[in-house]
Amino acid sequence: MDRRRRAESCDKNINMLNKLFQWLNRAHPRVMQKAEKTLKTLPGVDARMEQEFASMLRELEPALKPYAREFPAYAELPARGVDRELLLDELEQLNARERGKWQEGFVSGAVYHGDTTYIDFLNRVYALNSQSNPLHADVFPSTSKFEAEIVSMTARLLGAGATPQNDANEIVGTVTSGGTESILLAMKTYRDFAREKKGITAPEIIAPVSAHAAFDKAAQYFNLKLIHIPLRDDMRADVDAARRAITKNTIALIGSAPCFPYGTIDPLEELSELARAHEFGFHTDACLGGFVLPFAEKLGYPVPPFDFRLRGVTSMSADTHKYGYAAKGTSVVLYRGRALRHYQYYTAADWSGGLYFSPTFAGSRPGALSATAWAAMVSIGAQGYLDATRVILETATKIKNGLRAIPELKILGEPLWVIAFASDKLNIYQVMDAMTKRGWSLNGLHKPAAAHIALTQRHTLPGVAERFNNDLRDAVAYVKAHPEDKGEMAPVYGLAANLPLRGVVSDLLKRYMDVLYKV
Ligand SMILES: *Cc1c(COP(=O)(O)O)cnc(C)c1O
Repeated sequence: MDRRRRAESCDKNINMLNKLFQWLNRAHPRVMQKAEKTLKTLPGVDARMEQEFASMLRELEPALKPYAREFPAYAELPARGVDRELLLDELEQLNARERGKWQEGFVSGAVYHGDTTYIDFLNRVYALNSQSNPLHADVFPSTSKFEAEIVSMTARLLGAGATPQNDANEIVGTVTSGGTESILLAMKTYRDFAREKKGITAPEIIAPVSAHAAFDKAAQYFNLKLIHIPLRDDMRADVDAARRAITKNTIALIGSAPCFPYGTIDPLEELSELARAHEFGFHTDACLGGFVLPFAEKLGYPVPPFDFRLRGVTSMSADTHKYGYAAKGTSVVLYRGRALRHYQYYTAADWSGGLYFSPTFAGSRPGALSATAWAAMVSIGAQGYLDATRVILETATKIKNGLRAIPELKILGEPLWVIAFASDKLNIYQVMDAMTKRGWSLNGLHKPAAAHIALTQRHTLPGVAERFNNDLRDAVAYVKAHPEDKGEMAPVYGLAANLPLRGVVSDLLKRYMDVLYKV
């Protein structure tokens, strides 16, 4: 089958499946789950879906594996080591192919600073520390100095008092490998705290639907029940729904500053007071905003209280590897009081390998990444972060004005610099595809169908905001004129967004990851 025919037949099948599923979806979710299981056991259905998936993934594979033909692949160790210079040359080529796209500001999020001389500086710091491992604090005491200072600098930025009165109100924390680890650790900490202090054995956490998927991952990994609460029209969490979701098993409530999909900040003051009144934890996820909001506030932008200045906030996550401008692989998790942090730590007093302790999930850890995060923060300083925030927010104003000038599009909520847009008239995924054709890499969102751009320093370069606005105007005009052009990814997003059978979508995502691991 040629590509076009395959796409059409795929479309037809998807439409048919969609109709069936939409009909089923009106039934109760439990019935749906059962229906999904039954449907998959029907002879031929699983095989049909398998075929459908396989053909979709075959189409995506060339884009995911662009080097298959040009560069040698190593399915097993080369018998003799490859010459270092040759390898470096190959790595330079690969880097050169990928650099342009993010360097020139075509990518949402991903690379948050990206200036060449700055990267060179971070690389030198990394090189000096590449052998260090905070697990061996006696051999590498410099690493524990870096990590203690990263935590302290982040805490002070996020509302820790200069002189804590006691252990209970001191803001403490650890360096982690990324936002996900910070979140997983905080949730594990609340679970263990609640089990020991309150005897809660069936713990529940409450999070807005816009909270990062890492909370769902934490719930899966640590056997927590995650209760999702909806957003109001302004794309911020519904406080009344949070109140109704509380049970005697609630161990923590979550809010984002801001949330990943829409860049909006939840009503954290009300939510954290709710948690305080009921005496369970409140986590502000500031992975995205931790190194932006404190400076946006200084610049006079409307930033509601979000950090430890709120009495109810008992933990926070803030990503040094996003707007902290460190190399990828570090984040900070913070707690109110040392006692809470103790529930994160792991210790083994009886191991034959000796006394063992480790603050986070990993054992050995890359000390060089901590050194790099420390050097990023110290070299940039408060003034540097303020300046970076200023230009990013000015760029955001340009982009928001551009969006407001396109009548077919609407901005969701009132974001600062992570800007989601949707359309009542057009298929937003087709608009996204048209933007992809123009070189852009945006994030697709669903429920509701939307796209977003997370603005970084790459977008503050001269001409980038103007290019975005022009390309978006052209993309919308193209989709209006060519509704029949379904695009490359639009059908996939359409499928993923509309299939009520979430298990099927999960299967598809697992197969996608399988493709990534193909040599
Ligand atoms: C990026 C992000 C995370 C997860 O961070 P990773 O570093 O990708 O693990 C969590 N929450 C929010 C709001 C984020 O933007």
